[in-house]
Amino acid sequence: MKKMYHENDVNLGVLNNKKVAVLGYGSQGHAHAQNLRDSGVDVVVGLHEGSKSRNKAMNDGFKVKSVADATKESDIVMLLLPDTVQKQVYEESVRDNLREGQTLAFAHGFNIHYNRITPPDFVDVVMVAPKGPGHLVRSVFKSGSGVPALFAIEQDYTQNAKDTVLAYAKGIGATRAGVLETTFKEETETDLFGEQAVLCGGVSELIKSGFRTLVDAGYQPEVAYFECLHEMKLVVDLMYEGGFERMRYSISDTAEYGDYVSGKRVITESVRNGMKEVLEDIQNGNFAEKWIKENENGCKNFLEMRNKEYEMEISKVGRSLRNMMTFLNDEDKVCAKNC
Ligand code: NAD
Ligand code: MG
Ligand code: MG
Ligand code: MG
Ligand code: MG
Ligand code: MG
Repeated sequence: MKKMYHENDVNLGVLNNKKVAVLGYGSQGHAHAQNLRDSGVDVVVGLHEGSKSRNKAMNDGFKVKSVADATKESDIVMLLLPDTVQKQVYEESVRDNLREGQTLAFAHGFNIHYNRITPPDFVDVVMVAPKGPGHLVRSVFKSGSGVPALFAIEQDYTQNAKDTVLAYAKGIGATRAGVLETTFKEETETDLFGEQAVLCGGVSELIKSGFRTLVDAGYQPEVAYFECLHEMKLVVDLMYEGGFERMRYSISDTAEYGDYVSGKRVITESVRNGMKEVLEDIQNGNFAEKWIKENENGCKNFLEMRNKEYEMEISKVGRSLRNMMTFLNDEDKVCAKNC
């Protein structure tokens, strides 16, 4: 492992008298902007005219400017727009407003790694990629801790890029947990692989397959939902706190024995071969190309898939069961199809 950076390794003072433009005020944007401000950093939010996030950022007390103006007046420009619109916004409003010695920052390497954005050679190009969703980046910070992050330097024009990127990571709270160096290539490929094969794609298909197996065998859908989806969080929380060891300590010996003998019957060589294929498509750029084309064609298939999943039995059963769960936030219980 490369060096892990913590609070005492990093000087936040590097950001004194510097202004940070946070472009975008969505999941990551609101968290970076608010955490940096709480760390004493001067922040301006950059959004396009019609942005739905404008009111939200203003209500949270931020100066909101156009993407172009925010870029012009800042020292560090952090792109927290959806990966699929970054290229267009960069070309229309960022590129021609960049000055020598500025820092262009990303939270995910997609656009640099797949050569969609090629910054001029007179700026630093860095990445701070929190390893957690934006809403946790904010809530964990407020509770006094931080979500860990990766950082990378693609271009070091000023020869100070490392101090700058680490100070930024400290400003959003990441050094409270730990910040690890990576490259744009490693972050992009592992992030895409993780979300596709394990965290999002892998887990949801595993849950759906378990649910389907039980329901097809005649068991109640509600029981299958509890067993395969609801309890997932409880088990994953144990892994998060103390790894497989803590999870296995907490579950019964019967469950632990079943884990050892049956897990391997489900996740077999063919699943690992599928994972390798997914990784290859990420490495050779096929996935990126497909996703960009999908966006260029108005996301027709993407929206169809979203709709189909929304209408699945497990989703319907879940919505009605979660209505009874008084411990969940009302807004979190149901998420509209297009949220
Ligand atoms: P998001 O979709 O939540 O937010 C996007 C923001 O950009 C919104 O404020 C939206 O109003 C604004 N926006 C959309 N189109 C725009 C345009 N044409 N011009 C100006 N503003 C526009 O995005 P996100 O999920 O926070 O992702 C931002 C970046 O962070 C991405 O690079 C993503 O890969 C990375 N990232 C996200 C997460 C996460 O938790 N969501 C985690 C790690 C890294
Ligand atoms: Mg990720
Ligand atoms: Mg990702
Ligand atoms: Mg059980
Ligand atoms: Mg046990
Ligand atoms: Mg989303």
